[in-house]
Amino acid sequence: MNPTKTGLLGGTFNPVHRGHIDLGLKIQAAFGLDRILYILSARPPHKKRQAMPAAELRLAMLEAALRPHPRLVPCDLELRRRGDSWTIDTIRELKAASPLERFYFITGSEGFLKIRTWKDYRRVLREVYFIIVLRRSGHRARVEHMLREEGIPFGREHDDPRPPPAAFLHTYTSDYLELSATDIRKKRSHGQDISPYVEQNVQKIMEEIKLYEEG
Ligand code: ATP
Repeated sequence: MNPTKTGLLGGTFNPVHRGHIDLGLKIQAAFGLDRILYILSARPPHKKRQAMPAAELRLAMLEAALRPHPRLVPCDLELRRRGDSWTIDTIRELKAASPLERFYFITGSEGFLKIRTWKDYRRVLREVYFIIVLRRSGHRARVEHMLREEGIPFGREHDDPRPPPAAFLHTYTSDYLELSATDIRKKRSHGQDISPYVEQNVQKIMEEIKLYEEG
């Protein structure tokens, strides 16, 4: 039997938006993944936390957004663990629980270019496959340069049988590729319509508690 192929998409999801969902659907189809875990970063070490809504609330929005997509699965592993949310710990925990599963860490190129700030990033790069989505045309050369410096083989082929480390550079076209949660928070604080960018049930949660209304 073929091993289960699981994508891992970490994020603060503050809030989850259509760019995140589109990313999951496109990568799941392109790489034939069985599922993608949307791992909520409960206590992100690199983002300003003062103004960040509680992890439970971000998780509720994530669950609402992913409900129609059975292969996109919310994951609260980092919420249940104490302390900062480090990716290396999450990957190790997942691999220990399921040694035969194949894991693909999915990230946008802007996030990947900051990977050197992650705890034990060299280990992270070697524990799992990486799928890097190029979100700006200028990122390809920078991402490839970094992968070469780190000694990580890369290409576009995703059915390459070699074990990790291996990175796959992926592109797709989408109206949502440039969308960010920062834009949505800004729009909400200026009283602008966000319905084209977030799922209706997520917007409903925000409106009920007046989330992001003050900038
Ligand atoms: P913020 O604006 O608050 O920094 P964000 O919208 O970038 O948030 P994150 O939760 O930080 O969202 O992103 C989680 C992951 O999703 C990252 O790997 C990021 O590169 C990717 N991502 C974010 N927005 C998009 C998008 N519009 N299209 C594709 N990938 C995206």
